[in-house]
Amino acid sequence: MKRNLTCIICPRGCSLTVELENGNANVTGNACSKGAEYGTQECLCPVRTVTSVLRVSNRRDTMVSVKTAVAVKKDDIFRVMEVLKNTLVTAPVEIGDVLLQDVFGADIIATKAVK
Ligand code: SF4
Repeated sequence: MKRNLTCIICPRGCSLTVELENGNANVTGNACSKGAEYGTQECLCPVRTVTSVLRVSNRRDTMVSVKTAVAVKKDDIFRVMEVLKNTLVTAPVEIGDVLLQDVFGADIIATKAVK
């Protein structure tokens, strides 16, 4: 099987071709090794950093923006969002605070301060 991708690691945007055979990926079209890593990851186990917001229980109409500390498997994104939807946090919150631990392998950290 062959897939064509655009590398999103840097603005150059190399056109990658990834050939998949027996669970291995052979990447061509990449100008550097990061493109090979990206193409392999994207075809064998795609991951994404999830960004969202959490409700703040002790501040009226207030949300705090958050993201996963590391990328999670693309297949787990909706499960992560379901956890976030049902989570309330309590202010004060500082940027970088870990608000939840190990949600499908990633801590959830604040990207906004709420005083
Ligand atoms: S392969 Fe390398 S040079 Fe090309 S877009 Fe990806 S990171 Fe940039």
